Amino acid sequence: MDQKINKVVIAGGGTAGWMAAAAISKILGKVLDITLIESDEIGTVGVGEATIPPLMSYHQLLDIKEQDFMAATQATFKLGIAFEGWRDVNENYIHSFGTTGRDHWTAGFQHFWLKDRSRGSTRDYGEYCLELIAAEHNKFAHLPKAGLNYAYHIDATLYARFLRKFSEGFGVKRVEGKINQVATWPENGFIKSLTLESGQVIEGDLFIDCTGFRGLLIEQTLKTGYKDWSHWLPCDSAVAVQTESLIEAIPYTRAIAHESGWQWRIPLQHRVGNGMVYSSQYIDDDDAKRKLLKNISGGRLTDPLQIKFRTGRRLKNWNKNCIALGLASGFLEPLESTSIHLIQRGVLRLMQLFPITGIKQPDVDEYNKQSLLEIHNIRDFIILHYKVTNRQDSPFWRYCRSMQVPDSLQHRIDLFRESARVFKIPNELFGENSWIQVMLGQGLIPEQYHQTVDVMGDQELTRFMENIRTHVERTVAKLPNHQAYVEQYCKAKA
Ligand SMILES: Cc1cc2nc3c(=O)[nH]c(=O)nc-3n(C[C@H](O)[C@H](O)[C@H](O)COP(=O)(O)OP(=O)(O)OC[C@H]3O[C@@H](n4cnc5c(N)ncnc54)[C@H](O)[C@@H]3O)c2cc1C
Repeated sequence: MDQKINKVVIAGGGTAGWMAAAAISKILGKVLDITLIESDEIGTVGVGEATIPPLMSYHQLLDIKEQDFMAATQATFKLGIAFEGWRDVNENYIHSFGTTGRDHWTAGFQHFWLKDRSRGSTRDYGEYCLELIAAEHNKFAHLPKAGLNYAYHIDATLYARFLRKFSEGFGVKRVEGKINQVATWPENGFIKSLTLESGQVIEGDLFIDCTGFRGLLIEQTLKTGYKDWSHWLPCDSAVAVQTESLIEAIPYTRAIAHESGWQWRIPLQHRVGNGMVYSSQYIDDDDAKRKLLKNISGGRLTDPLQIKFRTGRRLKNWNKNCIALGLASGFLEPLESTSIHLIQRGVLRLMQLFPITGIKQPDVDEYNKQSLLEIHNIRDFIILHYKVTNRQDSPFWRYCRSMQVPDSLQHRIDLFRESARVFKIPNELFGENSWIQVMLGQGLIPEQYHQTVDVMGDQELTRFMENIRTHVERTVAKLPNHQAYVEQYCKAKA
């Protein structure tokens, strides 16, 4: 354990492997020997194209220029996710990346909106959010002082290729081949080396497992264990297909609920990513595939790709001298595009706790503690979308509506229902505004608002609400069309 870390071996070259390689090589490439092994024959999972805003800060840390990255990955901008048919069949809302209205320090904007509603206003909560209205109008531009929060839709294969070039520039050695044996040290069970089918042996001091769902090092070798959350997140399958773009790229992801799960639509510059996420308990694979193919537009560019998964998390993300990132560390499901973000967080955490002078158990414990807290909060946020719904049109939705959820989530639902209050847990990914947008969007209307709002007179409240709304409306009116903006800002070469 006290051995100095000189040689880092990254097993797997999907998004996780190359994101890890990029950060480690950029910061420590001069003092570490870094090797990444990937298998062309196995390939990558082939999905994972919607992101959330913190990816921008990852790129800033690595000095990656936004325009270069977007042009290289055929990227478009993303202002949020449209949840279609989630509250009930044919009822839609958007969870945007922005903030809504203006908070008072005692009471968030939702209290003002609720009071206005109690006086008869029929305005949507979303009408007070710049990003949301911009999304609805297909508008986008960079505004001064980061005035518009956004993320990206990217081509995952191109992203890995882009990061590969970046990482090789900082000294990462790429080895193509299939790992078929993992050797451990008899005295402590730490990983010693990986042997490829070709017979090549690659030794290392620290191993990063990015081998996807198979978890070749963390699970198949170290038997770390897995916590299953499929009773809360029952979708266990997906089928994905890429199609030609028929319309302008819109600046948001579409998540369209169906009787046994949901369908995504992710617009890129050169194509659209589509997929059906479903629970195989409620619909079989062939029916899901047929349903997806019926609900896509544009010529098919790929054959349907079937993917099986089990929602949950690895019991420890860091075990002995192995750190699991990406799908090897667990998977919630893609509803809120959180997986690439969890890779980013895992890599940054590893950089902060990097065991240059040897692996110390307190560092390992801290890494695992932080990872656990983070994924628990995200898990609760995703379950919320299934639990709080008025849909009763299928056994799947009736199960979701009636399932018992984690106490931590039930508390948040009860608190909001009773008092409209929401509190962000320190360091939690999703802030108050996300929780409010989704709770209201899913149909949870609080019973009362905070009484401090009553201190504001009637006319003053009207003025306050109208000022915010007209500011949003006027700003959006001045924004250019999203597609036009992408074409002049970051058009891909081919
Ligand atoms: C249906 C679905 C939709 C998703 N959508 C999103 C989304 O919109 N947004 C988001 O953030 N995330 C999404 N994700 C998650 C996202 O796809 C992953 O987090 C991301 O792609 C990282 O995958 P990975 O690198 O961990 O694994 P993979 O892409 O599976 O890569 C594994 C790598 O390991 C290599 N490998 C495996 N075994 C061996 C071996 N024996 N020898 C050598 N190499 C080996 C493979 O060749 C490959 O290079 C989605 C996931 C699914 C299943």
